Amino acid sequence: MTRILVAEDQARIAAFVRKGLEAAGFTTMVVDDGTTAASVARDDNFDLMILDLGLPGLDGIEVLNRIRARGERMPVIVLTARDSIPDRVRGLEQGADDYITKPFSFEELLARVRVRLRDTGTGDVTTLNAAGVVLDIRTRRASIAGSTVELTAREYQVLEFLMRHAGQVISREQLLSHIWGYDFDPGSNVVDVYIRNLRKKLGAERIETVRNMGYRFGDR
Ligand code: CA
Repeated sequence: MTRILVAEDQARIAAFVRKGLEAAGFTTMVVDDGTTAASVARDDNFDLMILDLGLPGLDGIEVLNRIRARGERMPVIVLTARDSIPDRVRGLEQGADDYITKPFSFEELLARVRVRLRDTGTGDVTTLNAAGVVLDIRTRRASIAGSTVELTAREYQVLEFLMRHAGQVISREQLLSHIWGYDFDPGSNVVDVYIRNLRKKLGAERIETVRNMGYRFGDR
């Protein structure tokens, strides 16, 4: 089990990150202040930390200072506002491994998390396999019976999410919030467009429409 500590005081963002990470198979703990973050962030407890810089108690930079000073080596991905570039530079100097600017999409964050975990050799599964489709998460390639299916980056993201939940009904809202970010427009029909394209490429029978609920990936 890969364990991720999320230090974020905005409840909406914390919930968005936690749900996404758990859907991707990670175990998470959310803390909403810097003092708690610094005390629980130990290599024995976590494989990676996602750290907001603007935290009550201790700010993110101070949390980083403390945990690095006592020798914790877990990768740290800093969350920062788009306009605080000096913060970012400072964060990286103080021992952060990567940073991501708000607002971000979950896919963006997940990609960074995977890279950092791969560096430390604690990454999760590398291929997904359902209904005859094989998805290689490292190369972001799909294939059916050994033939590559060309996908755009977004199509890949939609397909990966559906395949991680193969057999389950996924709502349009889940797809929107997971792939298009927490500031998505709930009235958007963009999901339908991507589902249509994926059906053309993969075979319509692999993605079922569940009336008034959403979509389900898998054999009927
Ligand atoms: Ca904050």
